[in-house]
Amino acid sequence: MMTCQAVAATASAYLDRELPLSRRAAVAWHLRLCPNCRAYLATLKRTIGLARKAPVAAPAPEVEDNLAALFRARQNSAD
Ligand SMILES: [Zn+2]
Repeated sequence: MMTCQAVAATASAYLDRELPLSRRAAVAWHLRLCPNCRAYLATLKRTIGLARKAPVAAPAPEVEDNLAALFRARQNSAD
């Protein structure tokens, strides 16, 4: 059986379905028998889900305009 460390090391690849089938099966088997790793994977899955749902921080349009004006002013003064 895989060790918990080995499961933890491949956990994100497992969740992304990037593991070869034999490896996947080994992880799945470990998860059936190991509540600790099941809890770890559930937490990891939730964390990844939250990170993907988090809105991308973008500046308000007026902030972008102000920045653009600032850059232009700096470039002009450098000439
Ligand atoms: Zn385990």
